[in-house]
Amino acid sequence: MQKELIKIRDLYVEYKSSNGILGKNKTIYAVNGISLDIYKGEILAIAGESGCGKSTLAKAILKLETAKNGDICFENSNILKLDKKQVKEYRKKVQMIFQNPYASLNPKMKIIDTLKEPLKINTNLSEIEITKNIEEKIALVGLDKNCLNLYPHEFSGGQRQRIAIARALMLEPEFILADEPVSALDVSIQAQIINLLKDLKEKYNLTFLLITHDLSVIKFLADRIAIMYLGEIVEIGTNTEIFSNPKHPYTKALLSSAPQITKNNIDKLTLNGDLPSPSNPPLGCKFHTRCPFAMQKCHEQKPQEANLSDSHKVNCFLYNK
Ligand code: SF4
Repeated sequence: MQKELIKIRDLYVEYKSSNGILGKNKTIYAVNGISLDIYKGEILAIAGESGCGKSTLAKAILKLETAKNGDICFENSNILKLDKKQVKEYRKKVQMIFQNPYASLNPKMKIIDTLKEPLKINTNLSEIEITKNIEEKIALVGLDKNCLNLYPHEFSGGQRQRIAIARALMLEPEFILADEPVSALDVSIQAQIINLLKDLKEKYNLTFLLITHDLSVIKFLADRIAIMYLGEIVEIGTNTEIFSNPKHPYTKALLSSAPQITKNNIDKLTLNGDLPSPSNPPLGCKFHTRCPFAMQKCHEQKPQEANLSDSHKVNCFLYNK
């Protein structure tokens, strides 16, 4: 049986808009009552359009965004209730790989110093132990130890992302949040980094939350996929369940936009209109303004979660008995 590393229950995250197209000081309902388990050793991907709340959910797990309500339990302790010292311990176990390896490394620091930093701050290891650790991690990501005295600008984009991954591994975390880990890289390099993440997960039983808009990356890497729409999870299932047997109209529309990976095995749907503003979400099923199957009750009531299998769940009246 799969063991949960992270349990999220009834999580709400809201914040005020600063300015821009939404206007100033509007409440953004970014995460609306999400409950989700992330199992030890899996890659769970969150898919959805920009503005669906996936990055806010990720920030809440990292404690970079404050939850309004709900619980996030990591190994059974609620991270929303940790004191300062406990937060420091938590942050050692949870690391992040950023989208842009160009911006995520300090251009003025040699690679060895970048990799040393988390060990110096968080451990009592000796210099010899630190060097050994760094050499192990840099080999793990497929780079030679001779590169350690170079600066970030002396590397290609793919090599920089390998270094960023090595840095994320320095404290031997249990959970890694990968936010668009290959989208800033050349297509020719993307496959190498995707393969590296898959190898690391398999060799070290690491747990990943993968945030990306790239469905081909999700199909290759993810064990399970949660589909998010306006702050809610509308469907969740295994890789096969989502890619071969999607049920929610929104999931079908998302997959229809990537015909090269779904081929002809799903009903094709085209999305009408834009994503409604997260500051003024529709009542009832939030997808009703764009759904070709919307019924009267979809405008008025929220659909309950329907269990299609132990792992496959969908929130849509078409599947409510
Ligand atoms: Fe469409 Fe209704 Fe299902 Fe929502 S509940 S996805 S509006 S059919």
